[in-house]
Amino acid sequence: MSVFMKLRRNESRGHSNRGAEGVGDSRIRRIFPVDLTHGPQSCGPQWHWLQWICLCPVRSLVVRLLGMFLVVGTVGMAHACPAFFLRVPQVSRALCQQAALVPSGATSVLGQPLLVRDVAASPAQWRVLVLGGIHGDEFSSASLVFHWIGMALRDPLDTHWRFLPVLNPDGMLRRPATRVNAHGVDLNRNFATPDWVREAPLYWERRTRKDPRRWPGSAPLSEPESRYLAEQIRTFAPDLVVSVHAPYGVLDFDGPLRPPTRLGRLYLDRVGVFPGSLGHYCGLQQGIPVVTVELPNALRAPPPAEMRRMWGDLQRWMQNTLPRPASKTTGASAPQSAPVSGLH
Ligand SMILES: [Zn+2]
Repeated sequence: MSVFMKLRRNESRGHSNRGAEGVGDSRIRRIFPVDLTHGPQSCGPQWHWLQWICLCPVRSLVVRLLGMFLVVGTVGMAHACPAFFLRVPQVSRALCQQAALVPSGATSVLGQPLLVRDVAASPAQWRVLVLGGIHGDEFSSASLVFHWIGMALRDPLDTHWRFLPVLNPDGMLRRPATRVNAHGVDLNRNFATPDWVREAPLYWERRTRKDPRRWPGSAPLSEPESRYLAEQIRTFAPDLVVSVHAPYGVLDFDGPLRPPTRLGRLYLDRVGVFPGSLGHYCGLQQGIPVVTVELPNALRAPPPAEMRRMWGDLQRWMQNTLPRPASKTTGASAPQSAPVSGLH
């Protein structure tokens, strides 16, 4: 029952013995919208409490201003830490708010903002792009990125980090969550790799037997989420991409450098190359090293100590492996272009 229906019923009760048919209804009609032309005589104590507020211009104005304040505050909080991030395992509200994600300006198929956080040392030697949740049902991948944002905030380690913890919010928001985006596209098969038009559908039909979880889409970069990531790779020009997935429990690598042998408990095990995959697109085509982390469980994040070990191992590998151009800044520069072999 709505407030106004209650008001209408109470009004008719209150005046039923007055024999003044229609008086209550006419007063209720005046309540909504609040009629600021009514004077103080409308604020009599015999009125229902809502009427007591609504029919007095000053009180009504104060209540409406308070309401606006609460709405604006709530929306602001939602932008800082959207509710769906609370679905991510081992991410507390405090950790989510500490991440201080901001809308990138890009949105998903269903209009969800794609959120981003930059954490940059000054000066920074390298630019590193860290991605989670490109597959919406891999919750732990988003969790790891949230925890790594916290670690980068404590010490960014000569690096300009750009974190995208949930690249497929539509898939993660669905119940049940889906690997694919709202168009049913596997975003990690939608990147513009060579001969995509022939290779990607062929691979999907023959190797996956038309698995709907791995549909590459109707065209390369057909999806707003994959287009946004491709644009980030072009404009941010990362020296390294770290893409977090689950649940295969391995470490994969595509690109021109010596790969890390392990991150925490995950050991290098190159699992293959796929048409339209990010590793193929970045590592093979553009020569940008891609570390692919496959966590062992999609629903449960690793223990905090393991996440710290993985972060530490990544730092050590970066320090020992990534080139250190003397003049490098955090500004844009062209990606490395040497094509190399790669998998995933
Ligand atoms: Zn995945």
